[in-house]
Amino acid sequence: MAKTTNDRILIIGAGLCGTLLAVRMAQRGYEVALHERLSDMRTMEVAGGRSINLALSDRGLQALASAGLKEQVLEACIPMHGRMIHGVDGDLRLSKYSGREGEYINSVSRGGLNMTLLDKAESFDNLTLTFQSKCSHVELESGVAFFQNKAGETERVEADVVIGTDGAGSAVRRSMMDRTPDLLFNYSQDFLRTGYKELCIPPGDGGTHRIDKNALHIWPRGAFMTIALPNLDGSFTVTMFHPFEGEAGFNTLNSSDRLNAFFEQHYPDLLVHLPTLTEDYFNHPVGVLGTIKCYPWQAFGKALLLGDAAHAIVPFYGQGMNASFEDVRVFDETVERFEGDWEKIFKVFQDERVGNTNAIADLAVDNFQEMRDKVDDIPFIRKRQLEMQLERTYKDYYSKYSLVTFKPGLPYAEAMKIGRMQDDFLLKVCAEREVEDISLEKVYQELKNMQG
Ligand code: FAD
Repeated sequence: MAKTTNDRILIIGAGLCGTLLAVRMAQRGYEVALHERLSDMRTMEVAGGRSINLALSDRGLQALASAGLKEQVLEACIPMHGRMIHGVDGDLRLSKYSGREGEYINSVSRGGLNMTLLDKAESFDNLTLTFQSKCSHVELESGVAFFQNKAGETERVEADVVIGTDGAGSAVRRSMMDRTPDLLFNYSQDFLRTGYKELCIPPGDGGTHRIDKNALHIWPRGAFMTIALPNLDGSFTVTMFHPFEGEAGFNTLNSSDRLNAFFEQHYPDLLVHLPTLTEDYFNHPVGVLGTIKCYPWQAFGKALLLGDAAHAIVPFYGQGMNASFEDVRVFDETVERFEGDWEKIFKVFQDERVGNTNAIADLAVDNFQEMRDKVDDIPFIRKRQLEMQLERTYKDYYSKYSLVTFKPGLPYAEAMKIGRMQDDFLLKVCAEREVEDISLEKVYQELKNMQG
């Protein structure tokens, strides 16, 4: 791609979003400086040998494709075709993600994906990477950012524009909050009373997977749940989503005896695959989960927030990274439209995007409830069966989950609107009748009429 401008772009935070953004901007020919507070993860051992994985779906893949990375990333993914629901009695039920062939989500290593992006970023002459460089604050009007380097000294970095991709605890966002009256900066944070902790199912004999590798496993238990996603080495990353207090609370499960008794009672078929349960549980921290919304995302046409820095969401739709990658795609398209006019680019981008990321934030909270205690609910199970039949039969029907996950061209806000309307209607139908007694064609026509 021909170089169109000499503008220097400073990107703060070399996580998933920042590194993909740096790659795209370097591909456009800008001078890009990417700063990261941590050491280069490619030179470090993964903490405790743990691998953490994420569900990557079509919105994320579309953004990776625009940087020419989709095929390479897919090679390191494991397809997951549906949710494998584990009952307390060991019963298994597969609830597919889509009635259409070829629609599935992918388990990918967070570290592996970030390292692929960093390798790509390093291949550009017009992109510099600086690790152990922690941003303290940004002077927004002038586009000057201040960093503490590995020697503990303060460095001043100047750029034409500064983009904060420094995650949920963003220092760039803090600098915007410090200017609340000038920017009319709105901010909200909403923590769940549920936290998370990661455990591990090790590989079976010969590096095989001990449970079905092509599914996202869920142990739904009402007020709490546990999930597991497969890794390429035969292991699974297991994540407990539990409250802090009460019988299932992280604070209550505070001894090896209590923990094991709890797993024997609630997760017996999982316990047999967790030889290092006690060690993992007591060595790994409890993470917090919350939603952060803010507006504006830009200041003075000089600074912008992207990814979790602008919109942290709870992980129950598997869309946080996907939405952050989609930010990069939409931003890139906006740069293409208004090249050179940063103020316009920032304003058009934030106004197009904020309603959509607010929508996926709300949908993710809804899905928390659905995954914990609706997957065993009769009208809900019927609704999923009906949705599968509708998707198998009608090419243009997409369930709410599919609208969000498999229709990357559709903005999240639209997916939410259509999806919620469909859900209300289908749940009503399914509360009254068995699936065999429902006319598929009639339901399909009614759904079409509702959308005008
Ligand atoms: P981050 O990944 O947080 O990266 C921010 C980067 O900035 C980091 O490298 C950090 O070190 C750096 N940084 C921070 N502060 C500074 C500073 N002051 N100076 C310089 N650098 C700084 N999403 C999905 O799509 N699918 C999933 O299945 C999924 N599962 C999840 C499960 C859990 C338990 C959680 C908590 C999240 C999950 N997510 C998932 C969400 C996903 O992890 C985030 O949305 C994604 O990581 C956001 O990327 P980011 O680059 O914006 O932020």
